[in-house]
Amino acid sequence: MKTGLLLSGGMDSLSIAWWKRPDVAFTVNYGQKAAQAEREASAAVCTRLGIEHQVLTADCSPLGSGDMAHGEADAAAPSSDWWPYRNQLLVTLVAMRAITMGVHTLWIGSVKSDGNHKDGTPRFVELLNSLIAFQEGSLQIQAPAIEMSTTELIRASGIPSHVLAWAHSCHKADVPCSNCRGCNKYFQTYLELGHDLDRSGQSHATA
Ligand SMILES: [Zn+2]
Repeated sequence: MKTGLLLSGGMDSLSIAWWKRPDVAFTVNYGQKAAQAEREASAAVCTRLGIEHQVLTADCSPLGSGDMAHGEADAAAPSSDWWPYRNQLLVTLVAMRAITMGVHTLWIGSVKSDGNHKDGTPRFVELLNSLIAFQEGSLQIQAPAIEMSTTELIRASGIPSHVLAWAHSCHKADVPCSNCRGCNKYFQTYLELGHDLDRSGQSHATA
């Protein structure tokens, strides 16, 4: 009986890795622009914690548009970045590997602010969990931080600031662009945490 985590290398999933210490973490390169940086951030925390790290590659870039994809924003897109059904795609890809490894609980890194999109809501997690558990081996999908803000999660996880600084949040590139929704969330979170952060992405604890 093992636990697994979908690890994107962002602040939320990095904090959950620190908090929950899964047996295995899964990072998916689905063709997003920042795949390499996300993989490196994920690998770093897995090495630090002794977590087995699995990297899955499935190029879905022709199916995405906007910030994280290699194409222009779609005119019909509801936001600056759009990969329809991405979260269920990623959970399904990881579940396909996880179930063969004996994982019984798969954690995903959704937090409260992800509820702006349907695929970040508690209802979505409940529906996806029902479907996946119904299909194979009673694999459970859980989002342990879905009622927390990113700041609350970071504090609850106890992740040290120098490890949190490994997080890669930029949607557009391997080197933070400082001007996308992912970068903005990164800076906003550091402000809330009481750290000052220069725009090169280096963090400096002030407390
Ligand atoms: Zn960015």
